[in-house]
Amino acid sequence: MSDCIFCKIAKKEIPAEFLYEDELVLAFKDVKPIAPVHVLIIPKRHIESIVNLRKADELLVGRMVMAAKDLAEKLQISKKGYKLLFRVGEQGGQEVPHVHLHLLGGAKLSENIRPI
Ligand code: 5GP
Ligand code: ZN
Repeated sequence: MSDCIFCKIAKKEIPAEFLYEDELVLAFKDVKPIAPVHVLIIPKRHIESIVNLRKADELLVGRMVMAAKDLAEKLQISKKGYKLLFRVGEQGGQEVPHVHLHLLGGAKLSENIRPI
């Protein structure tokens, strides 16, 4: 997707603070962190949302979670714990239409989840 911001980051057309990369996924710091540690893990290939995942994407999704787990260890937030968050679609609050897993930690974080 030529106008997708995360595809541009994946193609290194837009700078980001990269923390991990392999053939399937990429991890970089969120530009507007909401926690002391806020990392985004994305597939390199454009997939709009979790809704668009197919059976063949199982390995990819597993890789995203494993990358998050390994990064949490590397960033020393594993012991105290952290949150992993996928926002999905409009009611899920997803703003960037390219699948991304938020790794959030470094402090105890509130969950103010309620209908608005
Ligand atoms: P969403 O609300 O879609 O789950 O989260 C999108 C996230 O992407 C937000 O936390 C936002 O700060 C982050 N983000 C948006 N644009 C950029 C960007 O250009 N660079 C980086 N590093 N993060 C971005
Ligand atoms: Zn994209």
